[in-house]
Amino acid sequence: MLSTSSDSIETQLEQGLLVKHPEFWFADGSLILRAHSTLFRVHVSQLCRKSIFFRDLFSLPQPAVTAREERRLEGCPVLDLHDPPDDVANMVKVIYDGPNFGNNDRQDFAAVSGVLRLSSKYLIDESIRTKAMAHIRTAWPSTLKGWDTREDVARTYEVETGELRGLRYAHPIAIINLAREIGADELLPPAFYELSRYSFMQIFEPSPGDPLDPHTPPSANVSLSYTLTPADMQRLALGKEAAQHAVTALIQNMEHASSEHPSHRRSRSGQHVLAATAGGGRVRATCVTPAACRKDLCELVELATQHYLFDRERGSTDPLYVAEELGQLKSAEFADCVACAHALEAWAARERERLWRAIPDWFRLRR
Ligand SMILES: [Zn+2]
Repeated sequence: MLSTSSDSIETQLEQGLLVKHPEFWFADGSLILRAHSTLFRVHVSQLCRKSIFFRDLFSLPQPAVTAREERRLEGCPVLDLHDPPDDVANMVKVIYDGPNFGNNDRQDFAAVSGVLRLSSKYLIDESIRTKAMAHIRTAWPSTLKGWDTREDVARTYEVETGELRGLRYAHPIAIINLAREIGADELLPPAFYELSRYSFMQIFEPSPGDPLDPHTPPSANVSLSYTLTPADMQRLALGKEAAQHAVTALIQNMEHASSEHPSHRRSRSGQHVLAATAGGGRVRATCVTPAACRKDLCELVELATQHYLFDRERGSTDPLYVAEELGQLKSAEFADCVACAHALEAWAARERERLWRAIPDWFRLRR
């Protein structure tokens, strides 16, 4: 890959075939890492503090590292790493500076994913992997609450920058492939769900600048993979279909949102009403205008059917979003009936929890 093995590393440096990393070249370093054409001069002692791999490597005599003179530079042995230079730089940075991550945008993900990949490979201190995973999971969470927070951030991003909200976080296929590579299965459900919200055309034929265009932004695609395996392609197709069915079923089941429905007599929704009107004396938990409210609900079902199933608005494959919007219609549709307004809101909240729990099944992600 580089020039002939007879050329010394010094010669290759002089010829510009190799470059010293601008930040991680410590004059008193004791080891040189070579990743493709980038050289890092680091301290064996620092690597050994954080990595079991390096600790084991340097606890044994290493003829392969030190024997040949052309494998040394400035008196240091040279160790070849078959990893992208940017990943190595990010790993070295974490080893020296500790884990300090950014805001989970695409640039940040490129860095954190490099750290995660290499910390698996080089058995880096578990606490670094734990912190990196906790960081990524704020963008790709396992709870509905976490998902809603993530969505709020994306919405704010869209308003503040005028960019599409999908550009706020990393490409979901890159998340899926990282999860596969490092065995972080907990990232899969939110990543598949995010991906399934796009049309197949947006997924497979993205235009330049689209959220699913791997080259957006150009600098963030280093060493990430944007191709699904055939098995994951199948999961996407099955899950996308399931999500569409879920929207249809959700709208059909809206009649259960009525405060007159038996399921509302007991259960948590009653507590919800109590909590919502705390301090206001006795709670009126029953509907005062059943006929009018039934009519309102029917109209709402009509409206939702038209909007989400026929108009094919954005929500057609995003059941969590549809349920959220429907729950928010309470004040508009049931202005005169507190009981039904709260019942609709509570129904939406319950449905969203149920949908969230179903996501791993839609995408066949349970073992
Ligand atoms: Zn009512």
